[in-house]
Amino acid sequence: MTTLDQSPPLLEVKSVSKEFGGIRAVDDVSAEIFPGELVGLIGPNGAGKTTLFNLISGFAAPSAGTIVWKGADVSRLDAAGRARLGLVRTFQNARVFPGLTVRENLALGAHRFQAKPIHPEGRRWPLRRAEAHAAGNNVAEALARLGYENVAHAAAGVLSYGQAKRLGVAIAVMCQPSLLLLDEPAAGLNTDEVETLRQDLSIMTVSGITIVLVEHHMGLVMTACGRVIVLDAGRMIAEGPPEQIANDPAVIGAYLGA
Ligand code: ATP
Repeated sequence: MTTLDQSPPLLEVKSVSKEFGGIRAVDDVSAEIFPGELVGLIGPNGAGKTTLFNLISGFAAPSAGTIVWKGADVSRLDAAGRARLGLVRTFQNARVFPGLTVRENLALGAHRFQAKPIHPEGRRWPLRRAEAHAAGNNVAEALARLGYENVAHAAAGVLSYGQAKRLGVAIAVMCQPSLLLLDEPAAGLNTDEVETLRQDLSIMTVSGITIVLVEHHMGLVMTACGRVIVLDAGRMIAEGPPEQIANDPAVIGAYLGA
């Protein structure tokens, strides 16, 4: 399936289905994601991409099938439990705390390492001194990498749409994911912001984060991803390198042709 390396898959999706009433949003999908990959997950509206992300990340339970993470069945583990194992997702709409500063939002991203649950307002820091120091360093590093030092103490709510979306991804990176599921990170971004996202994706993969990218921005998917999986009406209709997918008659008929 991949020539990247001989490592076992990080993630195995095994014959997974999800039904909503009479609708099969995800229909018997099987896939493997290997360490170091950047995989695109594409398909028309309603194809089941977001539902599949929900099943993988634990925000929804499959009607059938199993989700295997690093060899262990995590189908019954909730989203927080999976995030603690390094399986992290973002949402299409940036999930930042608008009333907290940019710096505080980033610090919240490290919450999976905290001994105690975080205060709902995010104002209490039950970190031990050494952990707090390490988290502070990581936050400073993240701010520098984003170029957001000058807005570190501004409320996240004043960021532009593109900046807030980027912050949402950075918060997820603060969780130190092994696998990051990105849900339409390019949606609503201008050309320059998409280029910044492309660089961010490259930095993330170089730093060891495996990525699955749900995206309608085909220019980004076809140039950034090493492999593309295509869903249509809940079923996987194609899988392969971008150039193969771009010329696949079934994919052109279901999605790319439109
Ligand atoms: P888009 O590109 O528009 O985001 P998608 O590929 O992510 O689409 P999904 O959002 O996963 O598609 O939806 C797949 C199907 O499942 C659609 O028919 C949708 O209406 C249905 N669906 C998704 N979530 C629910 C739900 N909670 N209850 C009922 N039906 C749902």
